[in-house]
Amino acid sequence: MNGPKFETLAVHAGAQPDPSTGARATPIYQTTSFVFDDVDHAASLFGLQQFGNIYTRIMNPTQAVLEERVAALEGGTAALAVASGHAAQLIVFQALMRPGEEFIASSKLYGGSINQFGHAFKSFDWAVKWADPFDPSSFEAQITEKTKAIFIESIANPGGVVLDIAAIAEVAHRHKLPLIVDNTMATPYLCKPFEHGADIVVHSLTKFMGGHGNSMGGVIVDGGTFDWSADDRYPMLSQPRPEYNGIVLHETFGNFAFAIACRVLGLRDLGPAISPFNAFMILTGIETLPLRMQRHCDNALKVAEHLKGHDKVAWVSYAGLPDDPGHQRMQAYCPKGAGAVFTFGLKGGYDAGVKFVEALDLFSHLANIGDTRSLVIHPASTTHRQLADDQKVAAGAGPDVVRLSIGIEEVSDIIADLDQALAQA
Ligand SMILES: *Cc1c(COP(=O)(O)O)cnc(C)c1O
Repeated sequence: MNGPKFETLAVHAGAQPDPSTGARATPIYQTTSFVFDDVDHAASLFGLQQFGNIYTRIMNPTQAVLEERVAALEGGTAALAVASGHAAQLIVFQALMRPGEEFIASSKLYGGSINQFGHAFKSFDWAVKWADPFDPSSFEAQITEKTKAIFIESIANPGGVVLDIAAIAEVAHRHKLPLIVDNTMATPYLCKPFEHGADIVVHSLTKFMGGHGNSMGGVIVDGGTFDWSADDRYPMLSQPRPEYNGIVLHETFGNFAFAIACRVLGLRDLGPAISPFNAFMILTGIETLPLRMQRHCDNALKVAEHLKGHDKVAWVSYAGLPDDPGHQRMQAYCPKGAGAVFTFGLKGGYDAGVKFVEALDLFSHLANIGDTRSLVIHPASTTHRQLADDQKVAAGAGPDVVRLSIGIEEVSDIIADLDQALAQA
């Protein structure tokens, strides 16, 4: 591919010196609203004849740089930044679904997504059906006339397993359905879902993209590949919009119509805008994404190898290990590394898990991943506790499971902390 490489895009894409002050870093445009040139200008902005800033709920120059940067890194046509990863998911499904409709999701997802899909979405009368991420035919078997999308994570939380994106995309496209990929755990540094057939990518920017555990954010990236006008199954994109002079979004905006729909209908009406300050923090984090992710992966592999040889450890599930069942998929989809989040099992089960987590010192015990700092959680007693026992196991969060998110500290310090805590567990 021509044009700047990933590392260069991470620093520069979407940004330029501020035209009015020359400021080199992207300014935080901490304003709610923007002055119109005149009445005609205002009218053309409101009518979508012209792009421009009106009100920070819909668009803001700091957000815009973040959006362009993530779209460039993912290889999409456009992006929309929002307040959190969950807000991104809500807006994506609101653009695709009407009451009484269904989508199919991998059963191995972030615990919060399992709750959002399985419980909160019921109040919109949207039904999720769970499929086995390792069996593309289990997605296909559940497709009905009401199905509107398929949703997976590229590297699945909490187990760190890599999915066969291309095989699942093939199923989706055979049934004219868009494939949505949550690329939070991999980031585009490790995996580019659009290259494997994804149509929409979502992220929690809260995790590795921002990378410092200090700001919430989410993003929707439009791959520009899906034909929203093939039939009338996606009326938000294929039907005239009364509030915008009857324009049809897919006709007017072509290969970035989905991102526009999410902005001018979803974000405008549902409202979860990201603050300019958080957009700035995440943008700053993304500048070092390639350096951080490589270090996260290198450290994680060394830690996984060490744990694998430890006599208190029953098993380690990390696709970066050469003998892991997921290693081949990892080499196909994430050749630079298998990410920094993985699970292992303690021989002592639930009680050993609780003791181990409490004995760690350098590791922080908390419900997050993708921080510069090393993090730990015992999913069965925390993030996944509200799930039924069989759901816990299906989601990779059984009683003996410990999840690590390996930070960018010196790896010998990380291993020393794990060893002293294992000795106490
Ligand atoms: C954290 C997370 C989310 C939700 O994102 P928030 O920013 O916390 O709303 C979604 N998917 C994955 C894989 C996550 O790790």
